[in-house]
Amino acid sequence: MIVAIDGPAGSGKSTVAHAIAGRCGLTFLDTGAMYRSVTLLCLRAGVDVSDAKAVASVEKDCSILFGSSASGQTVIVNGEDVTDQIRTPEVDRNVSAVSAVPAVRAALVDRQRQIAGSGDVVAEGRDIGTVVFPDAEVKVFLTADAKARAHRRAVQREGGDAARDASAAADAAQEARILEDLRRRDQLDSTRKESPLRPADDAVVIDSSDLTLEQVIQRVVDLMEA
Ligand code: C5P
Repeated sequence: MIVAIDGPAGSGKSTVAHAIAGRCGLTFLDTGAMYRSVTLLCLRAGVDVSDAKAVASVEKDCSILFGSSASGQTVIVNGEDVTDQIRTPEVDRNVSAVSAVPAVRAALVDRQRQIAGSGDVVAEGRDIGTVVFPDAEVKVFLTADAKARAHRRAVQREGGDAARDASAAADAAQEARILEDLRRRDQLDSTRKESPLRPADDAVVIDSSDLTLEQVIQRVVDLMEA
């Protein structure tokens, strides 16, 4: 079975997809991590992310593998564990430009299909139901209002609600910056020419703004069992 979970940044796709993979014994495929990995390599090499040719050649020369550790999935690029480095604000700011390069998308889509092979997969991203696995048995487009998404991201970055409560004022400013970044990224991801972010025609849209994680997971599991 292939389960496709698409949606904008911060909608909870990774958490939901990871939980479903664990519960249902499916391979978890985080496609955003692959675009982030290429972005990290470009930034490290001083490659201008608006130079499509240079970005495509960075993608061509790199190896991206997924591993696992006690705290979850790891991302190994050219033999180095970059799990944390691909989640910095600098990568956030540049990843949409990298993911708008058609040659990068084509190559990463190939890699994603290879990783999935003929196995059971829950894949999350922006174009899983529309491009990568258009025949997926279950397609979900997970969304939430931008403020709810920014709030979740801020809590994740602060390491949880307790730490967050300790510095509420600083957090409010940080949350406002995260909100601005999410809106900018949504705009870039949904207006690019190549595979823009949009729900597949046959996707079930789930708005998670007022749902708990467990409720979202249960809705996806219900779709899998239907
Ligand atoms: O999901 P995540 O926030 O990690 O994705 C990072 C970025 O990678 C997105 O903002 C988008 O530009 C790109 N992406 C994409 N197609 C995917 C997954 C991610 O274009 N399937």
